[in-house]
Amino acid sequence: MVSAVPFKTEKSEEIFAAAQTLMPGGVSSPVRAFKSVGGQPIVFDHVYGAYVWDVDGNRYIDYVGTWGPAICGHAHPEVIAALEEALKKGTSFGAPCVQENILAEMVIDAVPSIEMVRFVNSGTEACMSVLRLMRAFTGREKVIKFEGCYHGHADMFLVKAGSGVATLGLPDSPGVPKTTTSTTLTAPYNDLEAVKALFAENPDSIAGVILEPVVGNAGFILPDAGFLEGLRELTQDYGALLVFDEVMTGFRIAYGGAQAKFGITPDLTTLGKVIGGGLPVGAYGGRKDIMAMVAPAGPMYQAGTLSGNPLAMTAGIKTLELLQKPGTYEYLEKVTHQLSQGLLQAAKDAGHEVCGGSLSAMFGFFFAPGPVRNYEDAKGADLSKFSRFHRGMLEAGVYLAPSQFEAGFTSLAHGQTEIEDTLAAARRVFATL
Ligand SMILES: *Cc1c(COP(=O)(O)O)cnc(C)c1O
Repeated sequence: MVSAVPFKTEKSEEIFAAAQTLMPGGVSSPVRAFKSVGGQPIVFDHVYGAYVWDVDGNRYIDYVGTWGPAICGHAHPEVIAALEEALKKGTSFGAPCVQENILAEMVIDAVPSIEMVRFVNSGTEACMSVLRLMRAFTGREKVIKFEGCYHGHADMFLVKAGSGVATLGLPDSPGVPKTTTSTTLTAPYNDLEAVKALFAENPDSIAGVILEPVVGNAGFILPDAGFLEGLRELTQDYGALLVFDEVMTGFRIAYGGAQAKFGITPDLTTLGKVIGGGLPVGAYGGRKDIMAMVAPAGPMYQAGTLSGNPLAMTAGIKTLELLQKPGTYEYLEKVTHQLSQGLLQAAKDAGHEVCGGSLSAMFGFFFAPGPVRNYEDAKGADLSKFSRFHRGMLEAGVYLAPSQFEAGFTSLAHGQTEIEDTLAAARRVFATL
């Protein structure tokens, strides 16, 4: 059954009230403050498998998975054991370690576009570094991104940046110089004609196109048939680079990421989330001739005190090893599809207009008639209904991402019990909206 203890939040409220006097908004990352769904956020105490527990003793089935990394389930015993071993040798070397080679080899073997890789500490760092590399390699400055796609919070990408930014209703962020974003061109997702027009207007000055090959930061949105292929051709025609930001989709949509699933090989790829197994890791990689630009092999500077540290590498290695087991992605696909179809059916049975779907271990739905093909469509969803749904599910013991503009994540620890309990809770909550 869902939560054994009646829903109470005294301790969460007390801790969050104190947090607000200590940290802006009481959080270390904005979406955690529940601004878009309203109500108090809950404060976690511990996590295990498909579950999280808060400081008041409530237990929740978790579909956030620390925003993606927990694909094997939280605190997987084998990951924890590997970390305990690694810990005895120290937490950071600031010098080469063999674990970097092991994880690098695993990433290169897995991801079709990656022939060489550089480790960093977050997805944001991976994306800001890859942008510098795109510009260094092509000698061009402009970049095309899509409305609603999030590539971390570096200045150049804080234009129509989806999720966190969208949730707060900030069109862009103050503090970002216009000169910085003047080289960032935007187009609606799934709109190949708009991209063609941008290339036609700027034939010699676009370094490349960066996108989420499956969108998770404007809610869950799939690429239309032909969209990724079209971008591959256009970038080639104009001597520009194609970059897949697979920070979210890497090792989640398939072991080799969305590029393996769709059979489209970009020039460069960014990774994060899953490859860190819950520790702070990001990475960027791609064709050898492009990666040869990166210092100290080449002139493009990029560095990191804690980059490639043995603890983070160890968590990543063990997580990828677990994912290599036969049947992993078949299982994730099946269980996520069952959840997603069950949610859509439950909503429709209760008379709500919804659309959505899933791919491998990623899912989402909108309170909208659909189809949702881009960020404009997503913004048309009934956000107030989502807020009420979110709060109802929380009180029923199900932790969903606190924004309509976020995808949901499943893990290997989500089994029949969790899916059935979630659907039972959803049926009850949908009936009250
Ligand atoms: C989460 C995310 C990022 C940013 O990663 P951080 O580790 O939060 O800095 C970048 N791109 C995509 C697609 C993401 O989902």
